[in-house]
Amino acid sequence: CAHPSATPESAVSQYACQRRTTLDNHNKIFTDALEVLAENLEFCGNLGQSLAFRRAASVLKSLPAALRHLQETQRLPCLGEHSRAIIEEIFECGSSSRVEEILNDERYRTMKLFSSVFGVGPKTSENWFFRGLRTFEQVLSEPSIRLNRMQTAGFLFYEDISNPVSRTEANALKILVEEAVICVNPSATVSITGGFSRGKEFGHDVDFIIKTPEAGQEDVILPAVIERFKSQVQKRLFQQKVLSEDCLNILLYSDFQESTFDLRQLPTHCFEAMDHFSKCFLIIKLKREQETDARAGRDWRAVRVDLVAPPLERFAYALLGWTGSTLFGRDLRRFARLERGKLLDNHALYDKATNTFLPANTEEDIFAHLGLEYIEPWQRNA
Ligand code: ATP
Ligand code: MN
Ligand code: MN
Repeated sequence: CAHPSATPESAVSQYACQRRTTLDNHNKIFTDALEVLAENLEFCGNLGQSLAFRRAASVLKSLPAALRHLQETQRLPCLGEHSRAIIEEIFECGSSSRVEEILNDERYRTMKLFSSVFGVGPKTSENWFFRGLRTFEQVLSEPSIRLNRMQTAGFLFYEDISNPVSRTEANALKILVEEAVICVNPSATVSITGGFSRGKEFGHDVDFIIKTPEAGQEDVILPAVIERFKSQVQKRLFQQKVLSEDCLNILLYSDFQESTFDLRQLPTHCFEAMDHFSKCFLIIKLKREQETDARAGRDWRAVRVDLVAPPLERFAYALLGWTGSTLFGRDLRRFARLERGKLLDNHALYDKATNTFLPANTEEDIFAHLGLEYIEPWQRNA
């Protein structure tokens, strides 16, 4: 990915924000393999090389058809020697021996297992692995391990949360969230963002962004929504005289992060940094549509929900950031900085030439500021 800008009209851009990437991936056999390599490098802390494989996979995802020959990769950006060797082997043997090796590797498998728990990142996973732990049972029975609140919830609801959330469930959650939000502030609106707004049928969570027209409301709405969820429970408890609170509480877990946002802050260089908006990470109890879980004897399942409430004047930037995909967002920022001399993050776009913040009401405004063709959310699956 070393060579910048001057790309002929027909060529594939090295920037994901100049490619249209739908969910219709014609090169899944290659991209799955490259993403295993990327994931393994992430687990090893080698983020630079991991990103190189992620970029290679992303370029292949944007192609209108399957690769037919290795030579076709010559004209593509971001496909280095390593990626090409993997592709070549898949062409010849149907699979990559290196990928097979990783998939069977004890460290990879353990890291993958541990980091699939909500609240457990690569650092903790690695720590547990090097202490000789290999299974959840071993982790949970290790007396020296103190799980934090998030991890405790992660283990408690592991089975439910590790099952993908369907679009139907996402829509049901939207009604639930909307009801609470509007009750707290009738002028606020709720939109689905994240993977579902890019057209995905399944997600690991459901992401919602809340728009509040009145200044300052973005700081109070989420705590109020959380309180509303809690009081709903108490009211119903009282009305229905039901036995255990645990059976009714729709909020199984909540972690509210207060806003640390400052209008004067310049966009950050660091992509991994979380944004500063008021947000919360929740686990919500969702009523099942038809079949009840007879084995568990319950008619609900736990789902992960994220809510973010940015100030109105930065709503478009927050929406663009939360819509993703992660690689798309990363390349938007890289493009802004390297090709336009502007700093972009989830909060703002700053023009270094004029030392000004560029206002935006819509995502279209932001693409226009960057001199980019507008890419629809469903074309951002980079
Ligand atoms: P999935 O369907 O697996 O949930 P997703 O694309 O929705 O896929 P998420 O992890 O939910 O993935 O993230 C959605 C978007 O929000 C991504 O672009 C990510 O970069 C961004 N994002 C997630 N968490 C934060 C955060 N704490 N701060 C800023 N941006 C975030
Ligand atoms: Mn998501
Ligand atoms: Mn999320």
